[in-house]
Amino acid sequence: MITTLRELASGALDLVFPPTCVHCGRDGSLLCSACLVDSPAVSKDVCKKCAEPLAKPGTCTRCVIEGSSLDRLYGSYLYESPMGSAVRAFKFDDVRALGSVLGGMFNTEQMSRAELDIVVPVPMHKSRIRERGYNQSAILAQKLAESLGVEYRGDLLIRSTNTVPQSEQPTAVARRGALSGAFEVDLDSVGVIADRRILVVDDVFTTGSTLNAVAATLKSAGARWVGGCALTVQPIGSLK
Ligand SMILES: [Zn+2]
Ligand SMILES: [Zn+2]
Repeated sequence: MITTLRELASGALDLVFPPTCVHCGRDGSLLCSACLVDSPAVSKDVCKKCAEPLAKPGTCTRCVIEGSSLDRLYGSYLYESPMGSAVRAFKFDDVRALGSVLGGMFNTEQMSRAELDIVVPVPMHKSRIRERGYNQSAILAQKLAESLGVEYRGDLLIRSTNTVPQSEQPTAVARRGALSGAFEVDLDSVGVIADRRILVVDDVFTTGSTLNAVAATLKSAGARWVGGCALTVQPIGSLK
């Protein structure tokens, strides 16, 4: 990974000012153990493709009707929690050092049994990477791939259009419409994708439009199985 001046500067600042928890402000770490304990894990009784709560594990009606391209979703924590605050701080407040902390917090229990071949991030459009300085999903995905012992590939997919951020799209239909054709497979990568089991990593899963669009792109390039992985999930039923 490229070490930027900004990273060096923030490392130097940590020596002078010890990190404080981005959620509660306690000294000691960027996300303190009390806030981690207060971040509920995604229950086991959820839809296996979108994490919507169900009476027992299975696939919800919406995922069946809409024909989700994801074979499986692995969500770790609920977004409405201190973990969600940490994700926002990582993404919008430029707390880049949170990347390695959060990347180590995925619940890997079930993913480690998924016989994965490759881990990829949700790609970000190059103009947005220029604005933010980094793709938060890529940092999380690299760290996760390392802990799973699976190959990381950040170069297989391209975000070809710079869509309006998903969080600013009013409805699920608008989200899907905005994303159609947003992702492309790098032509040199088709051989790497064919017949592989691929895990796509993102920071937040809400309606699933983004991970579904990425999964559909990978499947059209021949991927055998595509799972999604999100550090936090915000089930649609929980949205007001
Ligand atoms: Zn805290
Ligand atoms: Zn579902």
